[in-house]
Amino acid sequence: MLFTLNWLQTIFPNTNGEITGHTEIKQVITNSRIETSDALFIPIIGEHFDGHDFILQAYENGITAALWDMKKSVPDQLPRDFPIFYVEDTTKALQHLASCYRDEVNPIVIGITGSNGKTTTKDIVSSITKEKYKTHFTNGNFNNEFGVPFTILSMDRDTEVLVLEMGMSSFGEIELLSKIAKPDYAIITNIGESHIEYLGSREGIAKAKLEITSGLKPTGKLIIDGDEALLSHVHANSNVKKVGFSEDNDFVITNIQLHHHQTTFSASDENSYTVSLLGKHNAKNASYGIVLGKLLDISVEQIQHALSSLTVTGMRFEMLTGENGVSIINDAYNASPTSMIAAIQVVKEMSGFQHKVLVLGDIYELGKDSRTLHKTVAEVIDDSPTAVYTVGEDSSVIAEIVRKKYPNLTVKHFHQKEDILPELKRFLSKDSLILFKASRGMELESIIDKIK
Ligand code: ATP
Ligand code: MG
Repeated sequence: MLFTLNWLQTIFPNTNGEITGHTEIKQVITNSRIETSDALFIPIIGEHFDGHDFILQAYENGITAALWDMKKSVPDQLPRDFPIFYVEDTTKALQHLASCYRDEVNPIVIGITGSNGKTTTKDIVSSITKEKYKTHFTNGNFNNEFGVPFTILSMDRDTEVLVLEMGMSSFGEIELLSKIAKPDYAIITNIGESHIEYLGSREGIAKAKLEITSGLKPTGKLIIDGDEALLSHVHANSNVKKVGFSEDNDFVITNIQLHHHQTTFSASDENSYTVSLLGKHNAKNASYGIVLGKLLDISVEQIQHALSSLTVTGMRFEMLTGENGVSIINDAYNASPTSMIAAIQVVKEMSGFQHKVLVLGDIYELGKDSRTLHKTVAEVIDDSPTAVYTVGEDSSVIAEIVRKKYPNLTVKHFHQKEDILPELKRFLSKDSLILFKASRGMELESIIDKIK
């Protein structure tokens, strides 16, 4: 059970009659098509639909009660005694309800934001907290103004730790989410270029991420990327922990080594860690988890155990073995210049391959500086790969620059991703490593499937 209708009435007192009995709600839904019992239906008004129009369908499918926009009339066909809770705005009511339920359950709340690495860090942090506490966490990438309330409203009453991914594309969004969730701990994974279209600059992005402190408990702790110059004005104190590679951080990561399926590193806490993910950036994501785990009195052994046996949400730096034993890194879930650069660095650092191949697609949503930002990716590519293939529109500048720098490499640009397949044929052997990286919309996984 989540809560009773009596409790709901303490939050939304304006009802269509007396609410009798301790009717229990086990689920909060907005989709009228779900067959259910014991559910509260919240009709959301969207751009192209209005959930209120579907109340009868929801009723037929078994809902127990509903919130209702007080400016709208309830259809006559609905039984008079069906419990209705009137509110001014159903979306705001959903968020308010989530916030009240958060206080009711009162777990330790961890909010995670950043341009890249939120989902990975969420998966890492929740794997660590699960070692000691009953943990509820964001499913997949459900990180916006609906996803966060729904995640809160699906936690069991005995939840001890709640781990929330918080995403955004413009100012004010993280502030809203932070005020709903009231985190005890907040993590900012990094500042990149995602959504720069709406936020103007990287400074703007940093400011928007720092909104996560607006709902942070006064005694709450902030864990941040201490290597990021745009966060250097956040001064270290007992409530701020800086994590990173440079020596002035509170938690310093050293001696990173990449192996086929895992990354090992040492840290200033004098322990060594193995994380079952690839890349320097994942050593950092793991370190956010380590710092947090220690704050929550989770033992180093438990933390080490969690890190070495992670399962993370799919398509983020997945290492696969394909046709004839070729190694494939599937990082085609999404991309920003920062994450594409991170992925290329990982490939550079990996040893044991005769051929390394980069397949890079367009990075979307970069606005007017898109081509310039694609150029920054080209700058980190050296002559260690045998071949570089780009696909799409703006990624063609990557090919142009790399071709100029290293005339001896195979460098080709394609408009259709399918045209890359014949090129990849000659690399299908266990001596080769192929990286696939692009924005989600490029759907590079369709070509990965063909060589898997
Ligand atoms: P989204 O905005 O889609 O929710 P996200 O912030 O949840 O993204 P992840 O899905 O965890 O990010 O990772 C996306 C990509 O970002 C990864 O494939 C990886 O290449 C890169 N990445 C992950 N962590 C970092 C980091 N700390 N710094 C830079 N890049 C990173
Ligand atoms: Mg995510």
